[in-house]
Amino acid sequence: MAKITIDKDACIGCGVCENLCPDVFKLGDDMKAEALVPESDLPCVQDAADSCPTNAIQLG
Ligand code: SF4
Repeated sequence: MAKITIDKDACIGCGVCENLCPDVFKLGDDMKAEALVPESDLPCVQDAADSCPTNAIQLG
């Protein structure tokens, strides 16, 4: 199970993570991504982290 951390300063609100993995990531009112769950083992979480253009998603 990967713990999900999002660096809001690095996030540019592109929406890629939400598109790839909507069960876990959502853009907030501030147009920054937030994690809907603290950790997940869904494969799309890794896809989202790999696809984030600013490497704002850290998995621990
Ligand atoms: S993919 Fe990265 S930059 Fe884009 S919204 Fe998600 S966390 Fe932010």
